[in-house]
Amino acid sequence: MAKKRQEPAFAVIGGSTAYEFLTSGAIRGERLDRVDTPFGASQPVYRVEAESGPYFFMSRHGETNFDISAPFVNYRANIYALKELGVRQILSWSGAGALRDDIPVGHFVVVDDLLDFTKNRETTFFRFKGLGFMRQKDPFCPTVRSAAIAALQETGCPFADRGVYVCTEGPRLETPAEVRMFVALGGDLVGMTLCPEVFLARELEMCYASISYVTNYTEGIKDRGLKPGRLFEGLSTRREQKKVATSFKLLPELIAKVAELLLNAKPICHCQEAMRYYRRRSGVGRDWREWLNP
Ligand SMILES: [Zn+2]
Repeated sequence: MAKKRQEPAFAVIGGSTAYEFLTSGAIRGERLDRVDTPFGASQPVYRVEAESGPYFFMSRHGETNFDISAPFVNYRANIYALKELGVRQILSWSGAGALRDDIPVGHFVVVDDLLDFTKNRETTFFRFKGLGFMRQKDPFCPTVRSAAIAALQETGCPFADRGVYVCTEGPRLETPAEVRMFVALGGDLVGMTLCPEVFLARELEMCYASISYVTNYTEGIKDRGLKPGRLFEGLSTRREQKKVATSFKLLPELIAKVAELLLNAKPICHCQEAMRYYRRRSGVGRDWREWLNP
């Protein structure tokens, strides 16, 4: 009798330019296709065989190009698909702009908090259900964050172990006044993707944390002239772009390391009992699919 193969409990959601790893073969895996969910089709999922064990991989913005920008990602379908596959822990990565000049471009930040400035996204699975009144003491899972921090230490990458991520709607970049506001509010980085992803994962009782890599300084942090035709229209220098490219190449090694560390990590979080209060209530089934309203 054929042995039933062990399915991964860990998944990675790759951010901008994740598709480059798929097309170059730096991340290689069995393509499991899209998952049809009540919220639409997810991005295709890959089952990657790493030395330490298998994990699932999904490119948030598309498979071969930056086809879907942040405001138009189907976050609910992607998170639902990973839950359906049995995933319990998610690590994502995302490019982000620095709101301070002492956060160097090319560095990694394991963000620990978030300010939500998105405007037009579906932010919950629980429309019309009266569910989802959840505390956000640690918006990002402490167990996965610890593994990410340990992996960055082991690989010798330059990084900060905390940071406040401001999530904007996009796809446009921030105005100078918005940057000054985000700084005044305590933001460290600004990006467009982690919200609602992090909150949707918690609603389905999955652990979620993210590694951000700094791609540029935001508007007004450094004096940069507008240069049409260049990447970020001159917001980043060629030297900074080289640093980003160097850091970016480290991501496959980093995520494999996180996968390995999580195999033996002792949970220090409560993400996987986020619905415990509701599950005790009548009318809310034990099957997570019954919690949702498409
Ligand atoms: Zn957790």
